[in-house]
Amino acid sequence: ELHGAVTIIVLGASGDLAKKKTFPALFGLFRNGFLPANTRIVGYARTKMDHDQFIERVTHYIKSKGYEGQLEEFKSILSYLSGQYDNDESFINLDQTIRQSEEERKIEVGKRHRVFYMALPPSVFIPVAKGLKKNAYAKEGLNRIVVEKPFGEDSESSARLAKELGACFTEEETFRIDHYLGKEMVKNVMMVRFANIFFSQIWNRSNIDNIQITFKEPFGTEGRGGYFDEFGIIRDVMQNHLLQVLSLIAMERPISTDAEAIRDEKVKVLKCIPPISVNDALLGQYVAANGKPSYLDDETIKNKDSLTPTFAALVLFIQNERWEGVPFILKAGKALNEAKVEVRIQFRNVAGSLYRNAARNELVMRVQPDEAVYIKFNNKQPGLSYQTIQTELDLTYHNRYTDLNIPDAYESLILDVLRNDHSNFVRDDELEAAWKIFTPLLHKIDAHHQDIKLSNYTYGSRGPAELDDFMKKYGYDRSNVNYSWPVQSVA
Ligand code: NAP
Ligand code: NAP
Repeated sequence: ELHGAVTIIVLGASGDLAKKKTFPALFGLFRNGFLPANTRIVGYARTKMDHDQFIERVTHYIKSKGYEGQLEEFKSILSYLSGQYDNDESFINLDQTIRQSEEERKIEVGKRHRVFYMALPPSVFIPVAKGLKKNAYAKEGLNRIVVEKPFGEDSESSARLAKELGACFTEEETFRIDHYLGKEMVKNVMMVRFANIFFSQIWNRSNIDNIQITFKEPFGTEGRGGYFDEFGIIRDVMQNHLLQVLSLIAMERPISTDAEAIRDEKVKVLKCIPPISVNDALLGQYVAANGKPSYLDDETIKNKDSLTPTFAALVLFIQNERWEGVPFILKAGKALNEAKVEVRIQFRNVAGSLYRNAARNELVMRVQPDEAVYIKFNNKQPGLSYQTIQTELDLTYHNRYTDLNIPDAYESLILDVLRNDHSNFVRDDELEAAWKIFTPLLHKIDAHHQDIKLSNYTYGSRGPAELDDFMKKYGYDRSNVNYSWPVQSVA
């Protein structure tokens, strides 16, 4: 832990991430007593704002009902400093401002820590990191730097970024946020796998037929397509968030719960995955339907011939003893029929033919909305019948846990930074292994290679029409489904 006094410097404090995520998360920690007593938070950006304007902006999204007093206290630890991202003078000014506050508060030398939170576009990561290292690096305490995706856009750019950032801050000082690792259900994966004997025994190719990791959004880019068009759905959520989930699902048991033990296993499993083949990819872009616009209708997209995928189903294979031959199907799309993120593990058919029509077992971990873990399993139809019916063993969080209070992912991750726990952050070699899997496919998509096909799908559908055949090809079996979920009263 960072014992002593911490100054958290939010760079890009005038921006979107800062007001929507960083400051609300900092307030959440403050309110729950998790910010060390002597914490100060300094916002930094080029925009000229006076103190009141700054406070107004960064507290706009904070839900303070019932905590009005604490919000006032929180405001008293905030301050704002305007400066540039590429000149020494500005960063020297930042350094002096922090130092002055430390001295006024008589903070012991050696305990004057600084956490630099980069809520900035990636184009300025490097100049800012250099400026901070040169001019605002704590010499009388520890330093931490927090960065957000995108970490490059392919293997090469990611390696360049890693090298330049690594020249300023050590790996120990660096926390690369993938906010999916802060989500409650994602943090639960290891527990479900390794604390339950029945799961640890069947978690392999002998019992599992296929695994889906799915991200579905019910809306399109809606005016934010300018940013999206350069990235596409694969870079936006698959190479990072869904792959992180995959590595937790697929990795071997770490020797301990230490950050490095976990990250070692994640890297190891990623290194067993060959680059995704074009033949194992189904790509799509949404078109207008039912009064909803098409992707290309978004005015912020300049290239009206854009072939950027807004949907992708990509199949990854892991070449090791546990997983050989088991398809890991990553699916992600915008403008689909529903909002959900889930992991769906489908088991093999039961051998023998005692109950011919029994559906396959599935384990589903729903990440959002409404965290739930459920197993679809076969049961005798109650009564005089001897039919098997598919039903569920269900853990729906909001029914099972009273006073359920799941913190925002950013809240839990910033606390990890203060505790110096790297478990839920991306390590440099992990990033390299992740890009290796995706780069060849991405380069083909970027170059509009002749092998790349882009299917249309209508806004509000489940994806391209080819999706169901594609899923079948990789073994997903929905043929014996006689399953329905009772309508629940939502708590
Ligand atoms: P943003 O609002 O576009 O930028 C943050 C601040 O950076 C702006 O207020 C602006 O401050 C400065 N800035 C913007 N464009 C700049 C440019 N071209 N050159 C120099 N400075 C510039 O970005 P954001 O949405 O907060 O995102 C910050 C980082 O978090 C990005 O890496 C993004 O990918 C990542 N991220 C964001 C979200 C989100 O919800 N927004 C989610 C996940 C990840 P001044 O002009 O005042 O200096
Ligand atoms: P499901 O929604 O039926 O989806 C199962 C799989 O079938 C997914 O791969 C899905 O693909 C695919 N699929 C869905 N509709 C299809 C269609 N028309 N044709 C072909 N494939 C299709 O999931 P489920 O687990 O069987 O659950 C059924 C419902 O019960 C869901 O609404 C679920 O939320 C609910 N339920 C809730 C809980 C709980 O809250 N605790 C527990 C159990 C069940 P895509 O993902 O690509 O759509």
